[in-house]
Amino acid sequence: VRRLVVVGASLAGLRAVEAARRDGFDGRITLVGAEPHLPYDRPPLSKRFLDASGTDPVPPTFRTEEALRTDLGAELLLGDPATFLDTAARTIVVGGRTIGYDALVVATGATARRLPGAAGLTGVHTLRTLDDALAVRRALDSGARTVVIGAGFIGAETAAAARKRGLDVVVVETQPTPLVRAVGEAMGGALASLHLRHGTDLRCGLSVTSLEGEERVERVRLSDGSVLDADLVVVGTGAVPATDWLEDSGLTLSNGVVCDETLCTGAEGVYAAGDVARWHNPAFDRLMRLEHWISAAEQGAVAARNALNPAAAKTYATVPYFWSDQYDSRIQFVGVPQSDEIDVVDGDIEGDQHGVALYRGGDRLVGALAVNRPTEIMKYRGLIARGASWAEGLAFARSRSRSRH
Ligand code: FAD
Repeated sequence: VRRLVVVGASLAGLRAVEAARRDGFDGRITLVGAEPHLPYDRPPLSKRFLDASGTDPVPPTFRTEEALRTDLGAELLLGDPATFLDTAARTIVVGGRTIGYDALVVATGATARRLPGAAGLTGVHTLRTLDDALAVRRALDSGARTVVIGAGFIGAETAAAARKRGLDVVVVETQPTPLVRAVGEAMGGALASLHLRHGTDLRCGLSVTSLEGEERVERVRLSDGSVLDADLVVVGTGAVPATDWLEDSGLTLSNGVVCDETLCTGAEGVYAAGDVARWHNPAFDRLMRLEHWISAAEQGAVAARNALNPAAAKTYATVPYFWSDQYDSRIQFVGVPQSDEIDVVDGDIEGDQHGVALYRGGDRLVGALAVNRPTEIMKYRGLIARGASWAEGLAFARSRSRSRH
């Protein structure tokens, strides 16, 4: 392999480049990114980046341009998206140029889902990119009355950031509770108390029927007939994998780039990583596409290594993990939220926002939620990884709780 091309200059893409060099690959590396920015970290964008500070915030860039070019020896092609992949010719097209590869890592992530009717409304933003975060921050700086559409993690974190500044915030969610997709309805209901305690007006079970703008005020109409006037509307209704550019590539696209357990797309030399990849996760024996920091970072490294040395390709198995900071709480989750039973084994998640809940799937422990118990979660991740039974999970929780008291 003489040339590695990585498409997507964010977390997974950067980790791919780093892993290739760490393993001693001394060929050419080209990192292609649609955004004009150097690779930067997204989690802070809906958290401390939105805090009031009085000064311009520093973008959460991973490495300087100098470090990317010199230490990693990467050619940077930033500001233009790749628009085409030809797996037979082993080329991609970027900004009208055709670039050849021997090994390719697709790490184009996901883009924020937009609401119909939002186009042209200057106060309506998604929150996925640095440019989005700058726009949201500017609106918060000017004291915007804020409406957040969607109470997933990004919506919840944005609401928390606005409340921290003392701004009026309404969160609208179509599901009966916040965070349904991430932690399930029951625990989402318990975590709704976070919003209520901090003075956020949370309205669940309602959808947006229209979005209009008039003289810099955005008007959000809801399915119960109510109307919200806002200076800032943040749309946090999820993300879709960035696969448009691969439509004619022949790769299998189905809610992401479908890959085997080594992250191989099936096309020679082409691997995928991060939010764009839907791969066979041996830990759960099913296809999964995660939108979590840690798996994007790990997959980036694995995809590059496997692309450079397919004969020795390793599988990537993981128990999903993510965290979220909302108001003054740290929420962490491992495993999968689809379950037959949930048991709060420690603390009181709804009442005082501290505790651990375990998720049962059949006779197995399949998930765990920790709220303000930062040292607990990885222990449960270990249990899930080795296929622990539900009874083992409960016994472990009891022993943890005894050792703390
Ligand atoms: P992305 O970060 O989406 O990057 C993909 C890159 O590819 C982008 O820069 C994009 O512009 C570029 N690209 C797209 N199409 C093309 C193309 N055709 N050609 C070239 N480049 C292209 N996870 C957690 O676990 N905990 C958190 O607290 C958390 N907070 C988050 C907060 C926010 C606001 C966001 C947006 C995400 C958060 N996440 C969090 C998720 C985490 O950031 C993502 O899982 C991670 O960024 C995925 O990395 P990635 O490299 O796969 O994709």
